This record gives sequence, C-alpha cells and structure tokens, in this order.
Amino acid sequence: MNAKLQDIRDNPHRARNYAPLPVVLTRGEGAHLYDVDGRRYVDMMSAYSAVSHGHAHPRILAALTAQAQRLAVPSRAYFDDRLDAFLTELCALTGLDVALPMNTGAEAVETAIKAARRYGHRVRRLADPEILVAAGNFHGRTTTIIGFSSEDSYRDGFGPFAPGFRAVPFGDLAATEKAIGPNTVAIMVEPVQGEAGVIVPPKGWLAGLRKLCDARGLLLIVDEVQAGLGRTGAWFAFQHENVKPDGVMLGKALGGGVLPVSAFVGTRALMDMFTPGSHGSTFGGNTLAAAVALEALHVMRDEKLVERSRDLGEHMLSRLRAVDSPALRDVRGLGLWAGVEIDPFYATGREICERLCEKGVLSTVTHQQVVRLSPPLVIARADLDLALDRLEETLAEMVS
Ligand code: PMP
Repeated sequence: MNAKLQDIRDNPHRARNYAPLPVVLTRGEGAHLYDVDGRRYVDMMSAYSAVSHGHAHPRILAALTAQAQRLAVPSRAYFDDRLDAFLTELCALTGLDVALPMNTGAEAVETAIKAARRYGHRVRRLADPEILVAAGNFHGRTTTIIGFSSEDSYRDGFGPFAPGFRAVPFGDLAATEKAIGPNTVAIMVEPVQGEAGVIVPPKGWLAGLRKLCDARGLLLIVDEVQAGLGRTGAWFAFQHENVKPDGVMLGKALGGGVLPVSAFVGTRALMDMFTPGSHGSTFGGNTLAAAVALEALHVMRDEKLVERSRDLGEHMLSRLRAVDSPALRDVRGLGLWAGVEIDPFYATGREICERLCEKGVLSTVTHQQVVRLSPPLVIARADLDLALDRLEETLAEMVS
C-alpha cells in the first residue's frame, strides 16, 4: 500500500460510514478514472449511476462554468430565468404535469412521501395514510426512509422510526393486492431494485400494479433515482411496461455527474398538494443545478445515451450470461446495469472488486456477494469488453 493511501485510509477525522476500495482517485474523463500515481482505470460503477454522462463531459462542464459565472443560488424566494426550462423538459420527458426540484435522491423520496400523505389526508380523507413499499427496497438514508427498509445494517440503532409504511414482497402482485388496507394511499416501488442487487421483477408486474392502483384508487409512485435516465435502456424503466405513474423520483444522473440534482415529478392532482410554505429546500432547484441538469438531459438525447445503454447493455448481459464459472451464481440486469452474484464458496464480492481494482477496473459490491456493474453510458465498447475480460479472468483465478 503506498504512503498516500495509508495516510488517507487512516485519517482519524474521516467518519467510518464507508469502506472504500484501496485506490486514491484524482481525475476522471469519460469512462476513465485516474489515481494519484497516474494509473488509469475503467469506471464500471459511475458513482452508483450518477455519472451516466461520463466524467467531465465537456458540454456539461461548459454549462456549469457559464452559469456559475452568471448566477448560481438566488434562492427560491425569487423567480429566475433558468429553472422553468428544466421543469418543462422533465414533464415532457416523463409525461407528467408538475416537477418539484430537490438535491438528493432521498429528498425526492421524502417529497413523494409528503405528497402522497397529504393526498391521503385531503383527497381520500384518511386519518393515517399508509404507503405500501417493497421488501428489499432502497430509497435513501433519512430516518423516515430507513424506517421501512428491510436491511438491519441500515436501521440498527437509528430508531425510533416513523409509522405509516408496510412492506410487501417485491414483484408479487397477488401479495400486494392482499396487503391493501383501508388506509393505503399509495404503492411506492423501484421498477428494478438496485441496491438490493439489481433485481429485475417479472414482466407485467409494474403494469399490474398500475391496474391495481386504478381499481383501488391508489397512487403509483415509482422511484427512478437509479433506474431512470437511460440506465435500463429506456429513458425511464416504467416505459418498458407502458405505464404512467402518478409520481416519479429522479436523481443521480440528473446532475450530469457534477452536481446533486433530484426531482419529484407528478400529476397535477398530486402536486397540487404542495402550497406555499409546505415544502422546500435552500438549494433545491437552484439556478446552477437547473442549467446543468437541462444540459445533462440534452446531452443524453443528442448523444443517444439511452439507445447506447440498450445496445451495450444487451452485449454486456449476453457476455456475462455466457461465462461458464462455478464462482458465478447468477447474472441479473437490464440495460447497462448488471448484478453479478458470486458464490461465497469461492470469494466474497469484495475480493472480486479488489482484484478488479488491481487490474484497472473499478466496481463495487452490494449485499456482500453481488458485484454491480453500471458503467457510464458513454463507455466505449472496447473498454467495456476489457472490463468484462478482467472479470472473467478474476473469476477463473478464484476457481483455480
Ligand atoms: N432511491 C434509489 C432507488 C436509490 O438507488 C438511491 C441511492 N442509491 C436513492 C433513492 C437515494 O439517493 P441519494 O443517495 O442521492 O439520497
């Protein structure tokens, strides 16, 4: 281990809420990252899907610097001349009516929860509106959100938690229908569960949920913070099932890989629940974020990143599915997004990621055994193939 890495790793002023791989990064360009010694890596993670446009995209950097020099944070106490083009574009893309910008994914989720609860009180006249969520969900790290997580490591020692949520099995329509109670106001799900290990639900499930919500007067809220904006080979994962949700959360790639930008976008009936003073954020919808996010959406359209994700994703998944190794337990995915489950008899996911890091490929692990692959959507096919070669090599080393 070099001295710089050791100093950084052992810094007593660093909170221990992450366990990073042993690499110190200093620069990124496209699908490549460089460490402090100048070594180049293929980025197969893109900051948990936040860097879909690649690192340091020239058009996004140009929008960032031009806007930063003019006006960055005027606050939402005033109108500005940038935010509305971004909100209008978000509504056009999602097919929804009203967009409320925030900063992080978790904030967009909190916004959705508040909208749904107020809808429950004011439209459905429920005393205690309840939201059904899916087991294995990941929607962020606020105390409200972790309260309905199924993961002990996210919750342990952080209670008491907020009531008003109940988990049903992911991808199970019949169980969801059975769980609907008199206070249920909404069903809130990820269309593909990312943090749970890239779990793709059965075909027809989301369309089935839509039908169920229509029949029972419930809201369907879809968390596309990770799945949205091209990751699954469609602009939004709900489009694979021709579904129109009542509300959608977006984040991560919305910030073009340079800023935290999120949004909750919904139908007018739902978004009308927000009245002046009811919700907000100092930085949410700031002028700089709006200019960058609008450019990020335009780059995604102009560079056909959604189509790239679909085509390269098919290539990646078919290559992974063709790997014949006892160390490989399962391959799941959609678009340029895969979860590669490692048999613990041969290695931990962490060991695979550390070996890959030594070989110049950066990925990460979820739930101990699932290596997640979600490269920037701009990745060159040759770089993707190189990363997959290294993964195959690593699996072979673990078995030999
Ligand atoms: N929703 C989903 C589906 C996510 O994957 C994440 C982050 N992994 C979040 C919400 C939370 O986003 P953030 O970390 O920006 O708060």
